[in-house]
Amino acid sequence: MEHFFQIGVIGAGAAGLMAAAEAARRGVSVVLLEKNRKTGVKILMSGGTRCNVTHNTDAKGIAKAFMNGGRFLQSSLGAFPPRDVVKMFEQLGVPTKVEATGKVFPVSDRALHVRDALLNQALSLGVQLHTDQAVLNVEQTDKGYWSVRTKNDSYVLERLIITTGGKSWPGCGTTGDAYSWLSGLGHQIVYPRPALVPLVGGSKWMHALSGVTLPDCQLTLRGKVKGRQKKICQTRNSLLLTHQGFSGPAAMDISGALTAAESFHDCQLLLDCLPDIGDSQLLGLFLDRQQEGGKQRITASLGRWLPKRLAQTLASEFDADCTIAELPKASRGRLIEALKRLPLMVKGTLGFEKAEVTAGGVRLDEVNPKTMESLLRPSLYIAGEVLDVDGPIGGYNFQAAFSTGRAAGIAAAESIHTATTNSD
Ligand SMILES: Cc1cc2nc3c(=O)[nH]c(=O)nc-3n(C[C@H](O)[C@H](O)[C@H](O)COP(=O)(O)OP(=O)(O)OC[C@H]3O[C@@H](n4cnc5c(N)ncnc54)[C@H](O)[C@@H]3O)c2cc1C
Repeated sequence: MEHFFQIGVIGAGAAGLMAAAEAARRGVSVVLLEKNRKTGVKILMSGGTRCNVTHNTDAKGIAKAFMNGGRFLQSSLGAFPPRDVVKMFEQLGVPTKVEATGKVFPVSDRALHVRDALLNQALSLGVQLHTDQAVLNVEQTDKGYWSVRTKNDSYVLERLIITTGGKSWPGCGTTGDAYSWLSGLGHQIVYPRPALVPLVGGSKWMHALSGVTLPDCQLTLRGKVKGRQKKICQTRNSLLLTHQGFSGPAAMDISGALTAAESFHDCQLLLDCLPDIGDSQLLGLFLDRQQEGGKQRITASLGRWLPKRLAQTLASEFDADCTIAELPKASRGRLIEALKRLPLMVKGTLGFEKAEVTAGGVRLDEVNPKTMESLLRPSLYIAGEVLDVDGPIGGYNFQAAFSTGRAAGIAAAESIHTATTNSD
């Protein structure tokens, strides 16, 4: 069956639901095509099913946190910053709360309420939702319309908005389908790679500590930049030791920079277990205790700052399973080195299957940052994670999807109105 709509949006995730609603609000006919039987599958599973919708900061704070695309996002974030996302959900009957980390969640702690609010908004504005419609192909006709084909249907559209997400967590329907359509239309795709993904690596004694969390630590990634070993990036957050390697916000946040490196072997990941205590301060603390008699065991001493199991293991791995007075000078040096710069050997990541976002995607210099319109194909708009943007954990990625989706929906609808006015 053939359908005609003024605007078609492919992908009913955060960006697509937003784009479709904003376009329909402006009085144009909109169809939202979704591969799955239900919309917003990633929203439903996000934030441990609580959905961290944004971060408690301003547009600048969001843009600055992005690993890729911060500058590109400035305009759309400026037009729809976190406070407007919060206001939108409030108006849609989903009040939010800010947690100590700055993450913003619905007060109900239910991602379902977030998805339902976005879905109901789109439907109440007149968006036609066609689910179970995996788009197979996208072409531009000689007349400049868009021809979109699914298994049994075809759609003719005046404007097309692509919000199909990336390749991460492919079980959600995000299998990178749009990359081939978009490269067929002339767009360059920055090589997609997993980001915000748990790391595989570590040693036997680290794996034995599986389940232990360091609530506050610093990870530094060093690697080759133009042939020289340099600091690539640093993050401070909590780290979870797993039976395969490392997870938790610190490991996930640094994973995108690791997968961007040509080879894991050229990189060195260093863990600072005590980021608030410098080397000399740590040495001073040991020496002070020694002068006081040094009867305290090293594990007890470390246990003041670190989880007990980690303190015990570090003491035994670094020849410090003794009292402070008994600790030889060389072991003391090795222990301080381990506490401040413990090398974490990384072999890889858990891949797209377990990555929360995809780094890479449509090249940003080929898209208008204010309108999300393709600079190569007018009347085509691209928003959300399918673009080469990736932010850290903390609500940054949904915020970018909402802002870019909204910008695309508004611009596509307005361009139809402009074209109609000009032809009158
Ligand atoms: C486990 C997990 C937890 C997360 N938690 C958070 C969080 O708490 N906060 C946060 O900010 N970010 C979080 N993220 C990241 C966030 O989910 C994404 O950044 C965000 O969903 C991207 O939105 P999007 O609309 O661009 O793409 P998506 O939400 O991925 O939506 C794309 C949609 O397009 C559809 N689609 C794909 N191909 C086709 C096709 N051929 N035809 C039709 N439809 C198609 C897909 O089925 C999907 O519904 C999490 C991600 C994961 C995997």
